[in-house]
Amino acid sequence: MPSRELPERSEIVIIGGGIIGVTLAHELAKRGEEVTVIEKRFIGSGSTFRCGTGIRQQFSDEANVQVMKRSVELWKRYSEEYGFSFEQTGYLFLLYDDDEVEEFKRNIEIQNRFGVPTRLITPEEAKEIVPLLDISEVVAASWNPTDGKADPFHATSAFAINAERLGAKLVEYTEVKDFVTENGEIRGLKTNRGTIKTGIVVNATNAWAKLTNAMAGIRVNIPIEPYKHQAVITQPIRKGAIKPMVISFKYGHAYLTQTAHGGVVGGVGYELGPTYDLNPTYEFMREVSRYFTRIIPALRELLILRTWAGYYAKTPDSNPAIGKIEELSDYYIAAGFSGHGFMMAPAVAEMVADLITKGRTDLPVEWYDPYRFERGELRGKALQMG
Ligand SMILES: Cc1cc2nc3c(=O)[nH]c(=O)nc-3n(C[C@H](O)[C@H](O)[C@H](O)COP(=O)(O)OP(=O)(O)OC[C@H]3O[C@@H](n4cnc5c(N)ncnc54)[C@H](O)[C@@H]3O)c2cc1C
Repeated sequence: MPSRELPERSEIVIIGGGIIGVTLAHELAKRGEEVTVIEKRFIGSGSTFRCGTGIRQQFSDEANVQVMKRSVELWKRYSEEYGFSFEQTGYLFLLYDDDEVEEFKRNIEIQNRFGVPTRLITPEEAKEIVPLLDISEVVAASWNPTDGKADPFHATSAFAINAERLGAKLVEYTEVKDFVTENGEIRGLKTNRGTIKTGIVVNATNAWAKLTNAMAGIRVNIPIEPYKHQAVITQPIRKGAIKPMVISFKYGHAYLTQTAHGGVVGGVGYELGPTYDLNPTYEFMREVSRYFTRIIPALRELLILRTWAGYYAKTPDSNPAIGKIEELSDYYIAAGFSGHGFMMAPAVAEMVADLITKGRTDLPVEWYDPYRFERGELRGKALQMG
């Protein structure tokens, strides 16, 4: 694994070695750019290795649907090229009343317009997909078979190894402590292991993004706060029992699926914060058990093996801040993914690499404009969940 010496200089430096920083380094290296990632702990040690594996295109606005459609194309391409697991086993949203059905019909219309083949299905069809479901209260379901899941450890490691193969440098156990600037331009970064000269910096520190912006002396208000979200894994069950990601807003904003190893993994909407604390709580165990067993009663028989916690780096409209910050040249941010940053990473990498190398991108990056908070132009809240 990567743990090189800090280079004396690098054309581009990405702060943060999570899935966002690593896929961006990979994309830039692929384009022949000289790029270094600086990670204070080890690659993937932030939210990335704690995430729920989910990758979906079922969003409620045009920008996120388009970006996630592109992201899924890239997940497919790179999982095949680099040999990590990405399974298109679908996302199944269980719906319980007319209001939910109307809302999802509108979402499906937007998704279909951009070629995402989501459709409304009957409770019986949902049960064919996941026979263990309790459908007694379900009135319909939103089903897209091209959504899926990937193992965050394998995926992040594969992008990291291939970023290095393409010439990127990944420096672990190195913390950025300050910016060196001159007349509004970046000259370098100070770390606990010395200074690196650079002119272009990307803030990919997600839950720590506000601290990184403060270090850079950025005045524009980009509100990103760390919230504690927890996840659970059960003992393994028969392989293939729960293929898609199953979602229920009614029952605690729950999401659950089965890992390749056979355990049931997932979480609920239960949120604590803002906080940097990561201790799992008993209340979460109780909530997750209550809601999961309403969705799939057979889960009552299962033992919970482990719970853990990670950060959702949340913004007021649950959409990330992605773009160039004009007051410091050349400073970019890609942070605040509000619980769905793993799935977005390959497309975000493409957008940010486009901005750095071409000054523009064909993907709708304006939706994630970092200045929208200051202007009071919040977006429709992006569906916040795995
Ligand atoms: C329980 C849970 C379930 C989730 N489920 C899903 C899901 O199903 N699907 C999905 O898409 N997303 C999910 N997410 C969200 C997803 O994990 C994140 O959006 C994603 O991992 C963000 O990646 P990142 O690279 O931006 O951040 P991180 O992985 O947090 O990386 C940021 C890195 O920056 C480093 N860093 C910070 N400050 C500095 C500094 N000063 N110097 C050097 N390095 C620094 C940190 O050490 C960290 O490694 C979930 C999250 C949680 C907690």
